[in-house]
Amino acid sequence: MFDKILIANRGEIAVRVIKTCRRMGIKTVVVYSDADAGSLACEMADETVHIGPSPAAQSYLIQDRIVDAVKQTGAQAVHPGFGFLSENAGFARRLKAEGIAFIGPNPEAIDAMGDKITSKKFAAEAGVSTVPGHMGLIETPDEAVKIAREIGYPVMIKASAGGGGKGIRVAHSDDDMAEGFAAVKAEALNAFGDDRVFLEKFIVDPRHIEIQVLGDKHGNVIHLFERECSIQRRNQKVIEEAPSPLLDEATRAAMGAQAVALAKAVNYDSAGTVEFVAGQDKSFFFLEMNTRLQVEHPVTELITGVDLVEQMIRSAWGEQLAIKQDDLSINGWAIESRIYAEDPYRGFLPSIGRLVRYEQPEEGDQGDYTVRNDSGVREGDEISMFYDPMIAKLCAWGETRDDAVRGMARALEDTHLAGLGHNVPFLAAVMDQERFQSGELATSYIKDEFPDGFHGLAPTPEQVKILIASAVAMNEVIAEQDGDPSERTDWTVLIDKTAYEVEVGYDEAEDLIVAIDGEDVSLSEIEWRPGLSLFKAVLDDDAFTAEVKRAADGFDIRHRAARARVRVLRPDVAHLYALLPEKQAADTSKLVLSPMPGLVVDIPVTPGQEVKSGETVAIIEAMKMQNILKAERDGKVKAVKAKAGDPVAADDVLVEFE
Ligand code: ADP
Ligand code: ADP
Ligand code: MG
Repeated sequence: MFDKILIANRGEIAVRVIKTCRRMGIKTVVVYSDADAGSLACEMADETVHIGPSPAAQSYLIQDRIVDAVKQTGAQAVHPGFGFLSENAGFARRLKAEGIAFIGPNPEAIDAMGDKITSKKFAAEAGVSTVPGHMGLIETPDEAVKIAREIGYPVMIKASAGGGGKGIRVAHSDDDMAEGFAAVKAEALNAFGDDRVFLEKFIVDPRHIEIQVLGDKHGNVIHLFERECSIQRRNQKVIEEAPSPLLDEATRAAMGAQAVALAKAVNYDSAGTVEFVAGQDKSFFFLEMNTRLQVEHPVTELITGVDLVEQMIRSAWGEQLAIKQDDLSINGWAIESRIYAEDPYRGFLPSIGRLVRYEQPEEGDQGDYTVRNDSGVREGDEISMFYDPMIAKLCAWGETRDDAVRGMARALEDTHLAGLGHNVPFLAAVMDQERFQSGELATSYIKDEFPDGFHGLAPTPEQVKILIASAVAMNEVIAEQDGDPSERTDWTVLIDKTAYEVEVGYDEAEDLIVAIDGEDVSLSEIEWRPGLSLFKAVLDDDAFTAEVKRAADGFDIRHRAARARVRVLRPDVAHLYALLPEKQAADTSKLVLSPMPGLVVDIPVTPGQEVKSGETVAIIEAMKMQNILKAERDGKVKAVKAKAGDPVAADDVLVEFE
């Protein structure tokens, strides 16, 4: 076996690969850019090599630097993780030429599957069902419109080199097609340096289901069942699970057989994923093959017990697959949530910064569920604007899907981040939705369920109890600490504007008893004191954790996706709150504000300039994402407050109108 492996990646996937190497007794080398000096992956690796400045194009993507680092450290193999050089056939060839093993498939397999047009042709030849469409390149908008009419709208326009949800657009009409064709071509050229575009039928109300395959250098290929990744935003996966609630045994076997056939057709010899789009009627069509480890691979590991990274390493070394198809079965259910540094309350804009607080759920067996948390950062680390904004991949496993969903909800409740915006409340909302619980998934799920964006969920009756009891308990603790224990037992609690009459007392066990509009709840095992941002307790029989913050006249409390200002008031004062005027938001109608922290790419307007509605007034960039800010109405620019290259915070003024 290899003695030493170099990991040409960063963050959680570098940490993930190190864990398996350690278990196998293999030494690790991690390369790092300026931004990643001292990262968790660097701390865990046996050796580290600095490879350049923070932008990936000047470090992680430079093959020479990686090869030099391999030579300098005497590593025998490179694990590329995902993203970066993981699907670069040229890199795999380069390593081969240098006598270094690439822990991934052979370069010919990467080439064959590397772009969507070629891979679709291979798939069709291997007898895999492909999305009906046009297999060739399309040059002009007129040609695109003609072909789209033949296929029949809606039609998907795709960049052949596309990935990560970029370079994809749906067209419903000739006009959509003409416009979308140009847009996808431009985006593809910009993102991938390759503007080849093709068309395929848009599968209506689809689900994303993919098959994990594993091959060796001896012609053996097996599949490790499916993952469903239908919870997507902008064609990017957010929540994944295995198995899929849609599939029956026959469909699973058919998809698995097609995936294996395709992998065999290209002599596939590592871990890979064959992605399908599936109709609600269980029809399925090949989308693409990803010739690398997939972000969501842990859910497969949790239901099969197979360590995919170990298998990749073994097949790169030349071992025969020790697992046979018939050895495998599905054990239980697993769900993964991608925790991102993005603010769900602000349209999911990237929200980078320092992780001032980072409390992670306990891993391992929790009774009804098991937690796995693949994270690449520690409390105090910076989530930088240079890379993907993923903080962690949180997984929960259970015997049944219900157990896994409940486990994920609990694990999210035990995840606390501060210092930046994060999507934990959003993930919690999905777990609490009946539609998700019922398994009626579709790639349009997020759009369907949150048509106007995410604003949290209203508290359920159970959460109302949690909000009230926590606020009352904190109120009691504070009063006691101030040496002013209140004799008062009757209070009015306002949750935002809704009033509840409560009666507070203690039972013989000293548990807090709160009668809410006449109904008793008990609160025990309270863990909180002033200054703590987590409130933990047991309500009746259920343990919960809420995030709490003292506000001027109450508490801001978040439990899962429900958050509210909760005020504990004397009943004779409470009614006055109804009379208070709403606080007016400052008038920002004449300002263009930065929606996220990042770098100013361009501000193409000057003071005195007349701007038409829809014209671009600023471009901000953070974490691979450009945000183009357009004028909301016609107007004249009064002042420009930032220039290209300036770092800006969320809500910084960029342009002021007269
Ligand atoms: P998965 O199916 O594993 O989630 P994704 O398409 O989301 O695959 O990509 C996995 C990772 O690789 C993500 O971090 C994504 O940002 C990155 N990635 C994928 N394709 C590209 C690409 N063409 N250019 C840049 N990054 C990419
Ligand atoms: P990427 O390389 O960016 O991952 P994919 O081809 O895998 O691109 O597509 C990403 C997502 O877009 C899919 O998971 C699916 O939700 C959606 N999608 C792609 N092709 C189609 C299609 N023909 N019909 C419906 N949805 C599609
Ligand atoms: Mg894909």
